[in-house]
Amino acid sequence: MRTKAQYIERLGKMNSNLYSNGQKIGRLDERQEGAINVMGLTFDAAWDPASRELCTATSHITGETINRFNHIHQNTGDLHKKQDMTRFLCNKVGQCIQRCMGIDAANAVNAVSFEAQKSPKAKTAYHDNWLKWLERFQTEDLVASCAQTDVKGERLKRPSEQTDPDMYVRVVEERSDGIIVRGSKVHISEASISDEILVVPNRALKKGEEAYALCFAIPSDYEGVKQVVHFHNFRKREHYQRPADYGYTDSYIIFDDCFVPWDRVFLCGETQHGGVAALLFALFHRHSYSGCKPALLDFVIGLASLAAEINGIEKTPHVREMLSKLIMTGELGYAAGYTASDFGKPEVYVPGLGSVPYGPGSCIPNSIYCNVGRCLTGEAVFHEQEILCNIAGGLPATFPYEKDLTNPETKALLEKYLMRNPKIPIEEQIKFWLTFIDFNLSGSSGSILYGSYHGGGSPIMEQIAITSQYDLESKKDIVRAIAGMAPRQK
Ligand SMILES: Cc1cc2nc3c(=O)[nH]c(=O)nc-3n(C[C@H](O)[C@H](O)[C@H](O)COP(=O)(O)OP(=O)(O)OC[C@H]3O[C@@H](n4cnc5c(N)ncnc54)[C@H](O)[C@@H]3O)c2cc1C
Repeated sequence: MRTKAQYIERLGKMNSNLYSNGQKIGRLDERQEGAINVMGLTFDAAWDPASRELCTATSHITGETINRFNHIHQNTGDLHKKQDMTRFLCNKVGQCIQRCMGIDAANAVNAVSFEAQKSPKAKTAYHDNWLKWLERFQTEDLVASCAQTDVKGERLKRPSEQTDPDMYVRVVEERSDGIIVRGSKVHISEASISDEILVVPNRALKKGEEAYALCFAIPSDYEGVKQVVHFHNFRKREHYQRPADYGYTDSYIIFDDCFVPWDRVFLCGETQHGGVAALLFALFHRHSYSGCKPALLDFVIGLASLAAEINGIEKTPHVREMLSKLIMTGELGYAAGYTASDFGKPEVYVPGLGSVPYGPGSCIPNSIYCNVGRCLTGEAVFHEQEILCNIAGGLPATFPYEKDLTNPETKALLEKYLMRNPKIPIEEQIKFWLTFIDFNLSGSSGSILYGSYHGGGSPIMEQIAITSQYDLESKKDIVRAIAGMAPRQK
């Protein structure tokens, strides 16, 4: 396993293919620091005796101790630990812990490459290639991002129907030594601070869309790949210091006729498995949300109850009602993920067939509970902000700048008029509101909300998964029996 320092050292040696705001920038650009600090915690936690058990696992390939973010879930216990590790680490930073995309994509590709290699038309030994990549991923303790979301162009058209065929990442040429890939994946979290990028399809595919049924991995500084990066950092502090600055990044990844050698290709042309790859990454990722969303709720509950305490309104009925709503959403999201872990099996849902064995025996969380938990918590995020706004009042929207709070001419006056709860020192109250503003009223808070709402698939995607996979007929049977209706013809 690597340390945070070793992770940063490797980043510093990578080629420059990052672009931001008109400039080509290095991996260790100052604006990447917040995100690197968050990722660094995933290394620290694996070494810390207090969290080592939760944040490490035993590799099923080498038998070595590895970072849990690089592990393939072998049983339901692994799924529980992944959920709990995610909540635990997100609680340290009050936001996304950023390394889940890699573990979720790795678990999806592990199963898909295994099944696809059985195909007589397989273009290469997909699963053998995968296991070679996975062993290096685990042994070198690499960070992977997952590039699933295509630009998608005309929303109501399939990949093969688009006016421009490059709206979904595709193979434009097959060669004896590899494939040439073109297209763009967007909103890809932490690609600018990852070692590798795992690419998976975005949707179900049909015959004629073989060029889009593609899974592969490339180094994130790879030739032929450009990343246009967006940074999400909170306002810098000078006087009212906090222990560390945290942030995150996302990238538009452009594959500009990029060559991928066969040994990095894990699926190429098998449309049915391409659809399963899309579904499985989304499923594992929605399971991760059952750890991170409750953690973000933990943070929101802390913000709401401290705001209520500072405002002296914590015992009022309307505040109690709002707090209970936050707690219910967070803990129901956690409970859904817990159940999804507990019901995990090496099976996948295939339309028309139901749940069928899939993959080499690694454990896949229950789809209904993953989707229920993700949809419930995703849809609630804007209401959570409304609750924070309600409890805080107008103060965060017009809060003085840090330099006005420290200017000798205004400091004492502002402190006098900002004071709300005399039991809490004013310096503490100011630090609290600055953090509240970061989370509730900043540019970064807006993008966190978009990520919380759309990441892992917009709510409509979860609703489609739930209604297409749920056994509605068995519910009708219950009513038929109680109403004395004729039983369903089977
Ligand atoms: C902060 C952030 C981080 C992210 N990180 C990652 C990441 O690391 N990796 C990754 O792969 N993705 C990532 N995503 C992308 C995320 O998964 C997508 O945003 C999500 O799947 C929705 O896709 P979209 O943004 O293209 O929205 P769209 O799909 O365009 O949705 C916009 C609207 O159009 C509707 N719509 C779209 N298509 C149809 C249709 N065919 N029929 C009817 N209605 C339709 C939707 O329901 C929605 O109402 C991230 C997103 C954000 C915001």
